[in-house]
Amino acid sequence: MQFIDLQKQYSLLESKIEQAIKVVLKHGQYINGPEVGILESVLSEYVGTKHCISCSSGTDALLMSLMAQDIGPGDAVFTSPFTFIATAEVIKLLGATPIFVDIDKTFNIDPAKLLESIENCILNKKLIPKAIIPVNIFGLLADYESINKIKAKYKLYVIEDAAQSFGATYKNKKSCSFGDVGATSFFPAKPLGAYGDGGAIFTNDDDIAKKLFSIREHGQGKAKYDNIYIGLNGRLDTIQASILLEKMKLFPNELEKREIIAEKYNKLLFKFYNKQNVSKDNKSAWAQYSILAKNEIHRLNCIKALTKINIPTSIYYPKPLHLQEAFRGLNYKEGDFPMSELIANKIFSLPMHPYLTDTEIDEISQVLIKCKK
Ligand SMILES: *Cc1c(COP(=O)(O)O)cnc(C)c1O
Repeated sequence: MQFIDLQKQYSLLESKIEQAIKVVLKHGQYINGPEVGILESVLSEYVGTKHCISCSSGTDALLMSLMAQDIGPGDAVFTSPFTFIATAEVIKLLGATPIFVDIDKTFNIDPAKLLESIENCILNKKLIPKAIIPVNIFGLLADYESINKIKAKYKLYVIEDAAQSFGATYKNKKSCSFGDVGATSFFPAKPLGAYGDGGAIFTNDDDIAKKLFSIREHGQGKAKYDNIYIGLNGRLDTIQASILLEKMKLFPNELEKREIIAEKYNKLLFKFYNKQNVSKDNKSAWAQYSILAKNEIHRLNCIKALTKINIPTSIYYPKPLHLQEAFRGLNYKEGDFPMSELIANKIFSLPMHPYLTDTEIDEISQVLIKCKK
């Protein structure tokens, strides 16, 4: 059994993807070829935003989004410590300061604590609050109704870290359309994955979009060798765009399949395991299906029992970011974010991909029911 089975999807798309790659090889526009622009139109239409700026990775999508607002030294950017390193790494990379805010039972940033943290930051007068990066962890949208009220009150910039949530919805509105910008990833294992690195940024703001297109091309101005910003080589390869265009045709159907699989897991396991709280207005993209063990020892036992019959699992994330060595300079300590630490100690993820069969779901669930205590 595979944790994420990319081969099954490939077998369905094999001839179409090979044909699409061949077209690129023949026309030879490997950088900024026509497929890149076509993909951007398809994706912005899907998400429902005016602009889509494709780019080299989810990390660069976040980095470029911060660069577009000139975020740097002296600026505070609020985010969750229960996420992948990239979310906060890009803040530090620009010389700004990540301020972590604990999560709630959705495993996403807690809006009440966010408000408190922003007010503390203002009182402290050391850093200027500039932006919020809510993370849509495992594919579930954060609480943007509350976050955007806070954003308006303090005039902050919101970057949706949608690396795991492409395709997710809240009240039928799609992920990547809730912030000033939405940043997603096409890393192969994400809900919409390429065959290499890739990412995209979504926005309705014409000025931000224009600046992002420029940052992506080394801060290019009107002419090719005219540079108006410090930028990056942040482009998505044409071959990856052509692959994503084919995968996008299957994507809505794959999301439905993920939803059905998550419901099956829920039904079989809800009596025995706690999990992420998903409200009825939300549809997750189910990048991961994660459950909570009773404690670390119980988690180890569950993982062992599953491994014994070759069922793979993963722990996202065993160590919250405030406890990472890389962020030692921020002076956080154990106990600062109790909910994140508690979840990090109990959580583990089960196989999740659109082609998981009923037999496999049953098999996984039976093992888990047996090791429920
Ligand atoms: C994967 C991921 C990223 C980074 O995306 P890459 O394409 O791997 O650079 C950022 N944030 C979160 C939450 C992620 O899961």
